[in-house]
Amino acid sequence: MNYQLILDDIHSHVVSIKDKGTIASYIPELAHVDINNFGLHLRTKDGNEYGVGDYTTPFSIQSISKVLALALAASKKGNHILERLDVEPSGHPFNQLALLEIENGIPRNPFINSGAIVIADIIVSAFDNPKESFLKYVRDLTGDNTINYNESIATSEKASGFRNYAAANLLKSFGNLNNPVEDVLDYYFTQCSLEMTCAQITKSFHLFANKGKCLFEKTYLKEQQVKRINAVMLTCGFYDEAGEFAFEVGLPGKSGVGGGIVALLPNNYVITVWSPGLNEKGNSKLGMLALEQFTTKTQLSIF
Ligand code: GLN
Repeated sequence: MNYQLILDDIHSHVVSIKDKGTIASYIPELAHVDINNFGLHLRTKDGNEYGVGDYTTPFSIQSISKVLALALAASKKGNHILERLDVEPSGHPFNQLALLEIENGIPRNPFINSGAIVIADIIVSAFDNPKESFLKYVRDLTGDNTINYNESIATSEKASGFRNYAAANLLKSFGNLNNPVEDVLDYYFTQCSLEMTCAQITKSFHLFANKGKCLFEKTYLKEQQVKRINAVMLTCGFYDEAGEFAFEVGLPGKSGVGGGIVALLPNNYVITVWSPGLNEKGNSKLGMLALEQFTTKTQLSIF
């Protein structure tokens, strides 16, 4: 299969599309990004890499960080994390609060914001310096110490993250947050502000396509944990568009409001796309299209 040719074809088709969606502006610092950025990077399980466009430009990974945080929490706490969270798709936007109230402070899954805030609480409890520990985890997975947080994005979200404060306060009122709201959100906003390139994200997700072993063959997760995290990515990785992503693309994956999407075929490859314009569900508009074209052209999806 000529992967480079396939990526080049997708790139030239997708960048010609005029309607690129809308950049997220509810976090004011995110709004400065140029909507014309487009990067696509593929890494096969055996280590061959292919890229096109802006795949070496760092961007705000936002909710993509929730998968890596879940992996870190699972490696520390095992199945205990399931006592505080469910694993059902929410069918609602990532920042919706009503279900959390109705379901007594048990978030539907770890990828909606309330669920990710519970995972953040677990990480805050588990490490003396959670921000440093999470950053080290991502740097170790990729072997890349240039990866870092963007403080101005974290500060910007802290100043405007009213719904996340509401979610954290609801969790606290139901007894599903052990640490102070301020401490958990300070960590959570910083975690979401991590900046990575498509190529770095692809590398960091290698363990999910390789039964828990990172690209240096060190084991980070048990096979059963990887199976479960991939299942949650498939069913909950795209909020109220998870069904559509499975239907069009057919891979477990995760999006972020920075416009990134990472997806993978177990035992085969990881692919990351970045196009900052979002559709009305908060997922990258051209990113979804690019990945649909990739699995259609290669016939490589889980279905
Ligand atoms: N940090 C963002 C928030 O909490 C992440 C949302 C996302 O990427 N979908 O709102």
